[in-house]
Amino acid sequence: MYGTTPTEHSTRISMKIMDTFVRSIASFDVPAWAQDVIGDTGLESAYSDCLKQVLGVARGAPVSAHAVRSELGVLSLRELRDIVELKYLWRIQHLSEHRLENKLHNWLVGDTDTKGTGSIVNWATHMSSMLEKYRLDPNAHISMKSWTKAIFDAVWKQNDKALIAAEAKCATMHKPYSFLKIRNSSRQAMPPYLQGWASQNKRRAVTLSTQLRLRNVRVGRKEGWKYNDDKSCPCCRTIEGAEEDEYHVFIGECPLTMKRHKDFMKDLDQILHESGFRAGSREIAKGILEPKQRSREIFCILLADRPDHRFPDSRGSWARAKARFEQHLLDCWAARASMIKDPESRAAAC
Ligand SMILES: [Zn+2]
Repeated sequence: MYGTTPTEHSTRISMKIMDTFVRSIASFDVPAWAQDVIGDTGLESAYSDCLKQVLGVARGAPVSAHAVRSELGVLSLRELRDIVELKYLWRIQHLSEHRLENKLHNWLVGDTDTKGTGSIVNWATHMSSMLEKYRLDPNAHISMKSWTKAIFDAVWKQNDKALIAAEAKCATMHKPYSFLKIRNSSRQAMPPYLQGWASQNKRRAVTLSTQLRLRNVRVGRKEGWKYNDDKSCPCCRTIEGAEEDEYHVFIGECPLTMKRHKDFMKDLDQILHESGFRAGSREIAKGILEPKQRSREIFCILLADRPDHRFPDSRGSWARAKARFEQHLLDCWAARASMIKDPESRAAAC
């Protein structure tokens, strides 16, 4: 009823299992075949489905694959293949000239008329476009180590650019709040809130948090297709025609979860008091006076990876506030579910 399906393992362990049993097979012997699957999206979307499951998001959920990968701090299979190929290029170029691989490579470089050895594209042509794509030059490096570092830097840089470009186009990344704004720690690693072990209840809360970050929680604004385009809140229906969005459910815009939000804000005050911030939650989002906008801003600040100077962090206040916030999310969602009772017959419940 929580709308979440957490796996029984921590996110980190789930990713280890993924890397061992899925990615190792999907990427086996990459340099031999990578150029033949440039246009193939099947493998990538299967990988995306697996990553979604690690995060407790349903396989077919319409969330952005860019956001899903960023949420785990991983690259796409395509990018991982590019890295392997670029490293392999260095190895071949530095083999002795009598080695068969080197001879074959030199032949491919000269063989511009055909596709090389029966592949879709000539590997040498493919690699020169790859160097161009990442703006890399192996001749500018003196060791495999510095070459590898340059490859990773270039691939992550492009990955970041792609993520930013994706948000502009994809509604599940910018509505009603920005994914990039809440994904505010290093994007090359899993965000801190997903690290470590947690009890089953805490896992549920963390998974719900992830779903909110990926815009995959089934609030009214997303369920209109089921109810003749009626996107209003199934619990209150007070405002005629108003859409139920994430803010409505979780920051007390719905009269039926208002008390929970008040309790949460009280606890947040308490946490900040105990950490030495006398003004309590007034320390957060100081510049915003309008109460509704303030609550929305605080919601987004707590949904982010790290305090980032937007949340007063001292003596563990961020970690405690974050844990209390995740519990609040779960409480609101559970309350909403029990109010609707049977989500399939919404009309009867209202
Ligand atoms: Zn409502």
